[in-house]
Amino acid sequence: MDKALETQILAAVDKGFDSQLDFLSELVSYPSTRGNEQLAQNFMARELSDRGLVVDRWKIDVKDICDLPGFSPVIGNYEEAINVVGSHRSQSAKGRSLILNGHIDVVPAGPLDMWDKPPFAPSIDGDTMYGRGAGDMKAGLVANLFALEALKACGFAPAADLFFQSVVEEECTGNGALACLKRGYKADAALIPEPFSETLVSAQTGVIWFQVHLQGLPTHVAYAGDGANAIEAAVPLIEALHKLEARWNAPAHRHADFAHHDHALNLNIGKIVGGDWASSVPAWCVFDVRMGTFPGQDMAEARAEIEQTLYQAAEENAFLRANKPKIIYHGFMAEGYALSDDKSEAARSAIKTLEGAHETVNGTTLDQMAITCTTDSRFFGLYADTPALVYGPKAEAIHGFNESVCLESVNRITKATALFIANWCGLEKI
Ligand code: ZN
Repeated sequence: MDKALETQILAAVDKGFDSQLDFLSELVSYPSTRGNEQLAQNFMARELSDRGLVVDRWKIDVKDICDLPGFSPVIGNYEEAINVVGSHRSQSAKGRSLILNGHIDVVPAGPLDMWDKPPFAPSIDGDTMYGRGAGDMKAGLVANLFALEALKACGFAPAADLFFQSVVEEECTGNGALACLKRGYKADAALIPEPFSETLVSAQTGVIWFQVHLQGLPTHVAYAGDGANAIEAAVPLIEALHKLEARWNAPAHRHADFAHHDHALNLNIGKIVGGDWASSVPAWCVFDVRMGTFPGQDMAEARAEIEQTLYQAAEENAFLRANKPKIIYHGFMAEGYALSDDKSEAARSAIKTLEGAHETVNGTTLDQMAITCTTDSRFFGLYADTPALVYGPKAEAIHGFNESVCLESVNRITKATALFIANWCGLEKI
């Protein structure tokens, strides 16, 4: 690209950056946790439309996607599961098409007394914006939009079709991104600015969520020996799952991008409930588990191993031997994905284009990183034959308390995104 134009685009990002931060603050103020995304999506739809994109706003229908590869079993209802896509249709269509994807959903704020300020009243302190979702990933979602705005301020639009996606459900199923695929949104590449410190994600683990339901035999605690304690029965089952975790993390089992990571797959007991009364032997216990998998690991085999592990451990318990644990999959059934395994010309070229944009903005080469969680990139990479680049700003404490995003980093990511769009799609005069 012409150096003068490059400089003009970077200056346009700086010029629009105050408005970008105002926009981000407003977006963070919407508490778009699961089931509460609609107000934030209304805001996005309005803003996309005001900027000249053709807006498609629809409620996800599970029936449309439940038989597709990559579908995750659903938790709760989909009354508020609204996706928003803004389309730019190029006049010249001479470049390569692009999806700019980001998720609007945020995880729960957690205990409010651990936050210094209310999580949905975003605040800026120096170079940092605080708030739930500021980092994961509203800053990236907004960077996508303001990268387009910077091009527009220079008198240009992408010279290829571009689809701006604001999706729900990233944090628990990925069914929002899957519904966009089903709706027909395809492109030559996808860019997702998830907050991984301005590195390019080379590979991501898969994630399986499941619930284990245990029964017990309730008695008065005075006769505890006659009962069966469902809560205590969970302990050896959890230990057995951790042994499985150790086996899966063994060097021979690792994907190449995780060869030097001795614990990429993390098992988490995220929730446990059970029992009714301190003096009654508990008749029930339910615990929720999150487990990682490597790219290429077969999900059906992974599920079978999990089940076998739990049933074997249950054999050691006299009551559970006759009352097997019930395993229910709900939420993530996400395969791992490695961009590094995509040897296509499209992937090579998309990575090179992003490397060029990053270098122009930062003066340094673009590092790559394998991450130990999932993102929506798997839908593009695994089920739509589309290279998906995950590249976003530096954030702190995502999913924790006092979540924040580094604003200088957001500025750099917006610049790199603008240059990436310009070089990948090409430009046409407005
Ligand atoms: Zn995220």
